Amino acid sequence: QHDETWKKLHSHIDEWVTVSKTHTSEGHVASYIPELANASGDILGLCIIDIEGQTILSGDSNFRFTLQSISKVFSLILALMDNGEDVVFSKVGMEPTGDDFNSMLKLELIEPGIPFNPLINAGAIAISSLIAGNSTDEQVERILHFFRDIADNPSLSINQNVFKSESDTAHRNRSLAYFLKDNGVLDKEVDDVLRVYFSHCSIEVNCTDLARMALVLAHNGVDPIRKQRLIPRRFVQIAKTFMFTCGMYNASGEFAMNVGLPAKSGVSGSILTMVPGQYGIGIVGPALNRKGNSTAGVHLLGILSQEFDWSMF
Ligand code: GLN
Repeated sequence: QHDETWKKLHSHIDEWVTVSKTHTSEGHVASYIPELANASGDILGLCIIDIEGQTILSGDSNFRFTLQSISKVFSLILALMDNGEDVVFSKVGMEPTGDDFNSMLKLELIEPGIPFNPLINAGAIAISSLIAGNSTDEQVERILHFFRDIADNPSLSINQNVFKSESDTAHRNRSLAYFLKDNGVLDKEVDDVLRVYFSHCSIEVNCTDLARMALVLAHNGVDPIRKQRLIPRRFVQIAKTFMFTCGMYNASGEFAMNVGLPAKSGVSGSILTMVPGQYGIGIVGPALNRKGNSTAGVHLLGILSQEFDWSMF
């Protein structure tokens, strides 16, 4: 069955990417982080990797971009590995929200002042404070090291222009962080926690890195190519559950209905998703719909899910 899927993918992927690419015109590149506005809107690139490392690339697959919110999945996993479940879930909840990723509205509704989940900004900022390290530099270094390991790419690094651009303009994230600090959620200084958060959001990758990282989640924490366990199974289960319920912001329900795979998007127009037990998938299309997801990327995943019956339901 794998061979058949792979053959069909090979012969049709360029056509599906071309069709989906026409949907870029319906979206807009994010501009609230000024540096992201430089990306061109008509890009669409994809990478799919299978269990043996066979790779399918299509469209603008060598375009480079920053992880943005996709990084939240892996900082959550690292925080779980550093602290265990009890500590992590004393700082963030497990419930999806129907709000924008940077929502302030529902921040205080769960327990006394802890964010609903680790994939909204408030939750991810709380998670950033939990990464082990004796200094902010060490926390950032550990994150980079971990991400490089999962992506099997020792050259991953932080895009300093994006980091600075976000850091200089992040008034809302700053206010979310102060709110968390006031509620006793952050043990560290706001500026230090935000530096960790902006750093992991600014890690630069391409579609192949995304697909490679997704492949490890698709195989429950084992990299099937290096045949090495990188993440305990339980923490991958937690991460994938959040991806399924909250990974596409307030379009997570619609995405679950139309695609039916665990996924995480970022405002760079990136989407990391997977076919559990099989493929890792990385997509980038910087033009976003109103809910902050790649218009062309979501369209392309709709086609793939339908063609191969990939929905988990
Ligand atoms: N760094 C971005 C922010 O905090 C990440 C948001 C996103 O990708 N949705 O605004």
